[in-house]
Amino acid sequence: MEKFIVGNWKMNLGDDEGLDLLKNLSQLKVESHTTCIVSPPFTILKSAQKILENSSIFLGAQDCAAEEKGAFTGEISPYMLKMAGCTSVIVGHSERRKHHGETSDIVRRKAEKASLFGLLPIICVGETLAEYEAQKTLSILKSQVEESVPHKDVPFLLAYEPVWSIGTGKVPKIEEIEHTCAFIANLFESIPPILYGGSVSPDNVKSILKSSHVNGVLVGGASLNFEQFKKIINNVTQI
Ligand code: PEP
Repeated sequence: MEKFIVGNWKMNLGDDEGLDLLKNLSQLKVESHTTCIVSPPFTILKSAQKILENSSIFLGAQDCAAEEKGAFTGEISPYMLKMAGCTSVIVGHSERRKHHGETSDIVRRKAEKASLFGLLPIICVGETLAEYEAQKTLSILKSQVEESVPHKDVPFLLAYEPVWSIGTGKVPKIEEIEHTCAFIANLFESIPPILYGGSVSPDNVKSILKSSHVNGVLVGGASLNFEQFKKIINNVTQI
């Protein structure tokens, strides 16, 4: 089964440092059964595309508009991302949901528009700490998944990211990840690849990816450092 590693740089490395990291990444050989995607800031996507074009790393974006073009100041459309060389786009990241009020309905419209322009949507869902502590994880995920995934039958990746695990170094127990990802898988007739995200590191990536129903990882902090990300890629391709 194909495995996925998605790096999310967030609002970091939109400069020479980012281009240097991409040059290093472009030298890596990623095994054929693993798809590795990096998602730099918008401003260096075109330069990134040139650096990565003959490499085994794919280019992704961190967000897109739900519209194709028009009076949407500050937005970037899926069409523009396609033209910049992206093959995928993250939608519904918890930071977008929290800081930009993105609802699952908006996330679904973004995912649908992205796939219309040939981009693979990487749809993020996940419960907050308060929801986790109130044991509402599964009900929150059920509604987020049902409302965020495209109504049309199009390919997408589903990233389960407990919000309390993002950037905190706290990772759910493997049994919890398995239980939650099995629950998510059961919501589908045709199960999409399910990624886990939240404090993934070279040390924990193998055990996370060996969990049932986990087909990949979404990596934030550790994707900003060449050695760390390289170790994650190596560890994943050894599984
Ligand atoms: C993320 O940004 O989606 C993420 C999982 O971040 P981190 O790996 O730093 O927890």
